[in-house]
Amino acid sequence: MDEKKSLGGGAVFERGGENTAFSKYFTGTSYLKMLTTEGVGIGNVTFEPECRNFWHIHHKGGQILLVTGGRGWYCEWGKPARELHPGDVVNIPPEVKHWHGAAKDSWFSHLAVEVPAEGKSNEWLEAVSEEDYDKLP
Ligand code: MN
Repeated sequence: MDEKKSLGGGAVFERGGENTAFSKYFTGTSYLKMLTTEGVGIGNVTFEPECRNFWHIHHKGGQILLVTGGRGWYCEWGKPARELHPGDVVNIPPEVKHWHGAAKDSWFSHLAVEVPAEGKSNEWLEAVSEEDYDKLP
């Protein structure tokens, strides 16, 4: 068995294929399955250990993360990272610079709910530095 923690047997939603469309905004490999695009977009995002997205901002509409598996992190610019576990809910307000992703030793999955708003967009910024990520337990 892999020494890194898996998502366990509780994975409910389809993992989907490798998230190649957004791979240029991720460090490491992630998987994406859009569960619905009607009304409210909801995607199932799965991160391999050490995988995280770049710093980014959701403009106008925010994002809600519903953690479904593994162990991971949510971090807002200038604040300490918040450790995430299944059942956790993260409300990301619009215009807040942040990243989310897996812990070093664990796969991680969350549903990403796109909060609807007129003219919403995502702005992708720089990668999370190795130095900052390596500080996390
Ligand atoms: Mn986000």
